Amino acid sequence: MTGPELLVLWDIDNTLISARGFGKLMYREAFLQAFGRELSVPVDLGGRTELDVIAEILKQHDIEHTDEASQLLATALANSFETRRHDLPGHSEVLPGALEALRHFANDPRVHQGVLTANLRSVAKIKLEAFGLADLVDWDVSAFGDDHADRAELVRFARERAGHIRPFTPDEVVLIGDTPHDVYAATTAGVRLVAVATGRSSRQDLHEAGATAVVDDLSDLDELIRHVWKTAARGNRSA
Ligand SMILES: [Mg+2]
Repeated sequence: MTGPELLVLWDIDNTLISARGFGKLMYREAFLQAFGRELSVPVDLGGRTELDVIAEILKQHDIEHTDEASQLLATALANSFETRRHDLPGHSEVLPGALEALRHFANDPRVHQGVLTANLRSVAKIKLEAFGLADLVDWDVSAFGDDHADRAELVRFARERAGHIRPFTPDEVVLIGDTPHDVYAATTAGVRLVAVATGRSSRQDLHEAGATAVVDDLSDLDELIRHVWKTAARGNRSA
């Protein structure tokens, strides 16, 4: 075989970095900017695509869900992050082992890696650039929260985009993420997953959601590497 054997797709929030409420703050600013009034209902972000979150916010605030309204809020959100990009490091941190793990897979010729994230493309880039991680992933094989509202559909986008490298079969695609939404995306799309319990979900939560491979965090690189290759070889749904 020539070329990489695995396509590894990283979730960002609470998998690579922890942003401690920064996303909610950006939504508050963006909503005010877009609609001239305060966000009055708390936003639940964890693992949901931005298009999905935006649809719910519009509904909760009795704003008709048109493409225009959705785009207005998405653009305002991207602008808020762009304006505040220099505040991001003060409000967030790279999670233990994330840099080393990204570097490892970036340097392994058997692996090609990108991101699969609920964030808008521009916001995902701002977040990884803030910590010097952006050059370690291939943005052209990645998928984002503005590609589709359904996280499972993002897997299709990433696989199609990676098609110019070679066609990765579902068992050659490994997602790494921290929420049941990541588990859902992998299971629905039929690809593999290593879950990381660095978000709100415990190991047990992630197992109950259907994850077979779960690590506490990314700090044990050998353990992560083992799980990534094992889950790809074994298949996510056979356990
Ligand atoms: Mg996450």
